[in-house]
Amino acid sequence: MNQPLVSCATPSATIRQRGQHEVFCGLTSIIWLHRKVQDAFFLVVGSRTCAHLIQSAAGVMIFSEPRFATAIMEERDLAGMVDMHDELDREVARLLERRPDIRMLVLVGSCPSEVIKFDLNRAAERLDKRFGSKPRVLCYSGSGIETTFTQGEDNFLAALVQDQSVHGASDKVARLVVAGSVADVVEDQFARLLDELGLEDFVFLPGRSSERLPKIGPNTKFVLAQPYLGATAAALESLGASRINALFPLGEEGTTAWLKAIADTFGVSPARFAAVTEAPRRRALEATAHYRSALAGKRIFLFPDSQMEPSLARYLSRELDAEIIEVGSPYLHREHVAGELAMLPPGVSISEGQDVEIQIDRCRAAKPDLVVCGMGLANPFEAEGIVTKWSIEFAFTPIQGYEQAGDLAELFARPLTRKAMIAGDRSGNRRAAS
Ligand code: SF4
Repeated sequence: MNQPLVSCATPSATIRQRGQHEVFCGLTSIIWLHRKVQDAFFLVVGSRTCAHLIQSAAGVMIFSEPRFATAIMEERDLAGMVDMHDELDREVARLLERRPDIRMLVLVGSCPSEVIKFDLNRAAERLDKRFGSKPRVLCYSGSGIETTFTQGEDNFLAALVQDQSVHGASDKVARLVVAGSVADVVEDQFARLLDELGLEDFVFLPGRSSERLPKIGPNTKFVLAQPYLGATAAALESLGASRINALFPLGEEGTTAWLKAIADTFGVSPARFAAVTEAPRRRALEATAHYRSALAGKRIFLFPDSQMEPSLARYLSRELDAEIIEVGSPYLHREHVAGELAMLPPGVSISEGQDVEIQIDRCRAAKPDLVVCGMGLANPFEAEGIVTKWSIEFAFTPIQGYEQAGDLAELFARPLTRKAMIAGDRSGNRRAAS
């Protein structure tokens, strides 16, 4: 059995694990990306398993034609690879004939061996040329061998940035790129706040349409709205853009620190910053306070899943007075999350990667009040009487920004409140029966 290696790092020792993962693959990110980029179509080049995953994760859309599908590649030997290119070309031509509204076609790679052997980059380049970039054709990997579910988004955003560097951009220059998919309602709120701070020429990545990005270069700053964007940050930096170091915009404190880092970079005066943020800060604090009694003192264990765990743990600890036992993350982009980790109380265990059986043992021994974990672990824990929260909900639910602070707190409070209600019902029934 693998033993975890413990190394000394700030602020707490990190448990590095290299065992089995229990995390969805990068294809899962298509579920929120296809809703976000409204004229894009995601075509998974994969197997029946991939088709089942995205169909069941997304639910079946009966009344609207979805904007994702799977081109199923059956098993074949290497000699069959040429046919596979022809087959994909035929599928794409059929799709575009039926759906002329598609402005961007995204080929998504998966992990069956016949797809790994297939050169998806070459296929995307060929198809892009063939259709004269109408639609643009690009690709990224959502393979379960290489990616966890939020890394699918990271690879997509990196592909968008690279595509822009190859195919050129609109004439405008982006002064600020806000990188990371957020719900439209959150994007609107952030855009309003940035406007009120007096910022111009900012752009969200991804945007709501496949329109090309403004020019990105040495005059561009970028700020991450999601913590899982290592490849995207590297792609932006390769074009000369520089990262604004900030906490992530979760809760009142995180959102204020995130906006302040942007404001300071662009020379916004402290008085203007205070005037713009005062009212929404107050609303966020009030909304969060409503849930504090449900979470104060509760011991929480976070399994590695979305890479949002360090930010969630910081929010739980500092704004809801919860006690954090362990914070797991599939990967830690240390530079990006340094601020988050530094704000955790001393003694919190940080773990990177996963060795699921060992981690389950640690979790059971710690007897937490709430476990934040993937769906595969949640059911067995619930059967043992351990209260859980599915981590994937933090990727699907609008939780960033001031106006969502209460919703974020509620996501954690709900399972605990439900447990308390069930326990109350049972004891009430027992009293009634005696
Ligand atoms: S990409 Fe791999 S892990 Fe993901 S659904 Fe397809 S076969 Fe499964």
